[in-house]
Amino acid sequence: MSLDPNHYAATLRDNVAAIRERIAVACRRADRDPADVRLLPVTKTVDEARLRVAHAIGLHEFGENKVQEAQAKSEAMADLEGLRWALIGHLQTNKSKHVVRFASEFQALDSLRVAEALDAQLQKQGRALDVLVQVNTSGEASKFGLSPDEVETFVRQLPAFHSLRVRGLMTLALFSPDETLVRPCFVRLRELRDQLRQDAPDGIAMDELSMGMSGDFELAIAEGATTVRVGTAIFGNRATPDSDYWPGFAGTATTTP
Ligand SMILES: *Cc1c(COP(=O)(O)O)cnc(C)c1O
Repeated sequence: MSLDPNHYAATLRDNVAAIRERIAVACRRADRDPADVRLLPVTKTVDEARLRVAHAIGLHEFGENKVQEAQAKSEAMADLEGLRWALIGHLQTNKSKHVVRFASEFQALDSLRVAEALDAQLQKQGRALDVLVQVNTSGEASKFGLSPDEVETFVRQLPAFHSLRVRGLMTLALFSPDETLVRPCFVRLRELRDQLRQDAPDGIAMDELSMGMSGDFELAIAEGATTVRVGTAIFGNRATPDSDYWPGFAGTATTTP
């Protein structure tokens, strides 16, 4: 399907404006400042032509779930000014050297092996990387992330990795239309962050809460999200089923009309 850049730009502008308005409303309800909530556009499956339009309308941070896809896109769009790439999906240790080439943040840290591998690569390149620790707040076996009770011990060990700038926590809530099941996931992450903040090791910041996606970001904001990761509500439905990105994902696959 060919892309009409002007038409697509207008669509993206409308979608982003609508989401910013929903963020503003959610913030007002929670007595929060919208400036404290970062909208991270999630661009998995969105092609280069569309991402160039997204950049042109002022989106300068893209979140990607898979290393290979993210790296290919970052290389193809290396000419774009001020573009930052956030890796938000699970990482295998052997792929860390790729991440270090293009990512400005990594939101899915959940093992010491990955921390160690990333740190070693970062040292080689003489750079640092912002990281969030991923927590499995839904208790689903299919989800990546540490279980909440492992997080404190894990975080205590992170100061050993000098090139990782630990910023906070990330989670994916239960995929459910039922708020009473989704909300406790966000509450859990916030409580964990607050608890860790009390005696965080030197050099470890525990300010960020990356939580909330297209279907649940208002709830996440009500519970303190500082970053919401929004894909389909900006770019439309994905042609690829989400099970390609989340092993064991049992929700409804989204399809392009
Ligand atoms: C795809 C993805 C999102 C965005 O999901 P949408 O429902 O499209 O908003 C958020 N976080 C992660 C980790 C993702 O892989």
